[in-house]
Amino acid sequence: MDETTVRDLLKEIEDPDLDDDLVSLGLVNDIDIDGEKVTIDLALGAPYSPTETAIASEIRETLAAEGIEADLSATVPGRDDSVDSVLPNVKNVIAVASGKGGVGKSTVAVNLAAGLADRGARVGLFDADVYGPNVPRMVDADSPPMAADDGTLVPPEKYGTKLMSMAFLVDDDDPVIWRGPMIDKIITQLTEDVEWGHLDYLVIDLPPGTGDTQLTMLQTMPVTGAVIVTTPQHVALDDARKGLQMFARHDTVVLGIAENMATFVCDECGKRHDIFDAGGGEEFADTHDMPFLGSIPIDPAIREGGDEGRPLVLEDDADSGTAFRELAANVADNTGIVHRRNVANSVSARSPPAEHDIEK
Ligand code: ADP
Repeated sequence: MDETTVRDLLKEIEDPDLDDDLVSLGLVNDIDIDGEKVTIDLALGAPYSPTETAIASEIRETLAAEGIEADLSATVPGRDDSVDSVLPNVKNVIAVASGKGGVGKSTVAVNLAAGLADRGARVGLFDADVYGPNVPRMVDADSPPMAADDGTLVPPEKYGTKLMSMAFLVDDDDPVIWRGPMIDKIITQLTEDVEWGHLDYLVIDLPPGTGDTQLTMLQTMPVTGAVIVTTPQHVALDDARKGLQMFARHDTVVLGIAENMATFVCDECGKRHDIFDAGGGEEFADTHDMPFLGSIPIDPAIREGGDEGRPLVLEDDADSGTAFRELAANVADNTGIVHRRNVANSVSARSPPAEHDIEK
């Protein structure tokens, strides 16, 4: 067995999203053969995402059919060097944003983080909503961060997720008026002075809106992609559009649109009620050529879960739990697409021009 044999087998495997095979897309970083031992390093970036897990299984099966057993590893393609010093051990930073408050942004952030952790990923949740930091309550965090000897903060863990919040730093009744430089400083502290350790995903609950505060945060952190949360109705979608514009100005990738507070199914009569209209999130995503990440129903259990500190994504029997699990899976999948597309684009930028372009 030699490297060419292995490479040829990998060439038979298609990326389900990018319409080409793994080798041509540049997704095979390295093949190492040592006697009978085959080790393959892949350019995959979204740990525990359904698609990348499936790609890895297909590789194992294809090779196993030829009697080859391989060890697989993944190396996230390099990030921009200028921001690399911030959160270097975090593979993906996912910002959850909304054009305005009250659409369920924090609820989505909490369930996304707990859902990714439930899939097996190493996750952090950073509640950066300086105006209304309520994530600790939503996960019933019972202990504040601990100060380590070197002055860093050790975040508490809940539902397998490391948690940091402005709520740990300010008193409940202490109204804080935030100005740009203060926000800059506190965000820098909360990212750099916190022992996040090695994370697959750091989910950030951004403050609602599209002003300077949000911009400062996007400038400070190496965001892989943003999830925009909206309700289906048109006024909320107008605000979501402003969110899109803010990310575009900042060259921040938008992973997709999450619709919250969609249909309510009455538990008495079983009828569906579209309280904030229906289908608006998906239409909006279509119009703007963005992935639609999923629709979360209005469900009193979601609100109760938030109040009692028990994210519904962890409830196997709840329909809304399934909706959140699908959302988490779609966010992970779209994060993977962003990385793999970057790799494929840089490979195609390097490849020689096609023959007909060469002057004879
Ligand atoms: P935001 O972060 O956008 O201001 P929150 O996540 O704090 O919004 O949600 C506002 C309130 O609505 C909370 O009490 C939350 O529990 C509730 N809520 C959010 N999403 C839903 C939903 N899909 N069904 C029922 N209640 C919800």
